[in-house]
Amino acid sequence: VIAIGQPEHSVVTTCAYCGVGCSLKAEMKGTEVVRMVPHKNGQANEGHACVKGRFAWGYATHKDRITKPMIRAKITDPWREVSWDEAIGYAAAEFRRIQAKYGRDSIGGITSSRCTNEETYLVQKLVRAAFGNNNVDTCARVCHSPTGYGLKTTIGESAGTQTFASIGQTDLIMVIGANPTDGHPVFGSRLKRRVREGAKLIVVDPRRTDLVDGPHVKAVHHLQLRPGTNVALVNALAHTIVTEGLVDEAFVGERCEREAFEQWRDFIARPENSPEATADITGVPAEDVRAAARLYATSGNSAIYYGLGVTEHAQGSTMVMGIANLAMATGNIGREGVGVNPLRGQNNVQGSCDMGSFPHELPGYRHIGGAEVRAQFEAAWQVQLQPEPGLRIPNMFDAALDGSFKGLYCQGEDIVQSDPDTQHVAQALSSMECIVVQDIFLNETAKYAHVFLPGSSFLEKDGTFTNAERRISRVRRVMPPLAGYADWEVTLMLSRALGYEMDYAHPAEIMDEIARLTPTFHGVSYALLDARGSVQWPCNEQAPDGTPTMHVDTFVRGKGKFVITKFVASREKVTRRFPLLLTTGRILSQYNVGAQTRRTENVHWHDEDRLEIHPHDAQERGIETGNWVGIESRAGQTVLRALVTERMQPGVVYTTFHFPESGANVITTDSSDWATNCPEYKVTAVQVLPVQQP
Ligand code: SF4
Repeated sequence: VIAIGQPEHSVVTTCAYCGVGCSLKAEMKGTEVVRMVPHKNGQANEGHACVKGRFAWGYATHKDRITKPMIRAKITDPWREVSWDEAIGYAAAEFRRIQAKYGRDSIGGITSSRCTNEETYLVQKLVRAAFGNNNVDTCARVCHSPTGYGLKTTIGESAGTQTFASIGQTDLIMVIGANPTDGHPVFGSRLKRRVREGAKLIVVDPRRTDLVDGPHVKAVHHLQLRPGTNVALVNALAHTIVTEGLVDEAFVGERCEREAFEQWRDFIARPENSPEATADITGVPAEDVRAAARLYATSGNSAIYYGLGVTEHAQGSTMVMGIANLAMATGNIGREGVGVNPLRGQNNVQGSCDMGSFPHELPGYRHIGGAEVRAQFEAAWQVQLQPEPGLRIPNMFDAALDGSFKGLYCQGEDIVQSDPDTQHVAQALSSMECIVVQDIFLNETAKYAHVFLPGSSFLEKDGTFTNAERRISRVRRVMPPLAGYADWEVTLMLSRALGYEMDYAHPAEIMDEIARLTPTFHGVSYALLDARGSVQWPCNEQAPDGTPTMHVDTFVRGKGKFVITKFVASREKVTRRFPLLLTTGRILSQYNVGAQTRRTENVHWHDEDRLEIHPHDAQERGIETGNWVGIESRAGQTVLRALVTERMQPGVVYTTFHFPESGANVITTDSSDWATNCPEYKVTAVQVLPVQQP
């Protein structure tokens, strides 16, 4: 990054990349950002930031930004730049035409975890009040929807239980399916610091990440399981705890539903759940599982941190509940230093879920079928709401292919690149009659769009993000929107054109409405956030200062509920044709589909996705580091360069997915979580063979 001058003033805002939610200071010269530095009083980051937050903000003024609305009648036509009035009027007329022809439920909307709470709230309000249905979903569908389901079912709230600072009290850290060094770097550093201070570390991961044996910390145990066997492993850990008398009987007796616990205990004690019986499934030696379980149950304060390696599976929700079972059985929940801690991928995954982006839930995770809560929103919004849940994203695709879903408003989300089985997504989008994409760049999804509405980056708007520890932080506008309007204003215009007036002069007023209608947000306001820096929900009459640790005296649902977690093997099995399992992850300098980071200097650190393969598998195929390899699955094929490394176990290959040309989601399949439809990105049976340079 080249500094373009000395700063004249600065604005405190929140990083728009990962779920750590670092507070940053944009140092400005006029309306130009000179540099981005970590805010030393940031409550989530304590004065630290990573290479994404610090250096990867230049995309905001990149030449690829689209700043004029565009329309086209057919996706084969060239784009035509038009005024905002014409673009919004065209989109609204098309949506109404489609509904008149195909019915009220033939259109829907997708909210983004990249956008602010206020913007997400408005999109779901638009769908429910102006579209008149519940066909709204969020990109959290493809990452942490099992967290929402699993934690709501077991402990009563769809959110992590702790504050990041809580790790300072932790004696034993178990990291499952997460690589915080790359995915959540500032928290990853905090975790390593705690290990260096003496906390023990267990890593559960198919890949040998740097937490296992990196330069800074070493894990006591690395349970290097096969992809797709999480639930068998968590059951084996629980089996050890139950059969070796390590259950915290006092905690369970006082805090949990007795009958459900006893049923779970009887199930988990069965011989088929023992470490010995499951070793053939997981590939993890029984003695390692037993030792890890003993350590987790007896170390004092034990905390579990998990990521997408838990959720993005056909049994993602089951695994989240398995983790909650472990924490409850050992009394490791409800105080500092312990807990169940999902490491959220995107900056506002937590917030987009909180704001009612799911087709079955209004803001605050209240089911749309509840007459009382629906009446509350009907009175506030002056509309009648539909009581039946709407379509999830994959259901929208299916409905598009059967001809009943024809129009989509997609804000800040590139579903073509980020959702699995790209061919299926493309076919579904091709069969729709009006797709409105609102984004800062012409992304892959825009190739199928009829209306393009220029989006605004986090530097161009006011609002709030909510991080992985439920911390609500202010996003502050540091420069005017390049296209003239912030995303929230565009949604207002679209709603108005559809005949449903929404009237807010500033995002603070949207937050005031959220606070009025959402019990866990009753105490939240911009005034409070400006005064305190941030606050963790629930923040209301009972908790005016917010809630760093949840479930302290009682679980949100009352008594904690153990759930039986039967292991079911993934549909993706190795065969002679597809003898390897592909799993996916992230790298430090890049972010998700790379739309932003690829357009910054960070690309110098990492300019392509590579296929990591174990030396044994590489040698068998005549592959060396740097060779081009073809990867084929049941869904499709792509080509990458290979990286031969012992970080992989034999039989398992791995890639990141930051570059569209690598086409990782061309090969992932449509297999998904049984409860939430979260895609099974982490398990794909593939063949890998050398190919010529494409
Ligand atoms: Fe912090 Fe995450 Fe942003 Fe890095 S990407 S600065 S860890 S919020």
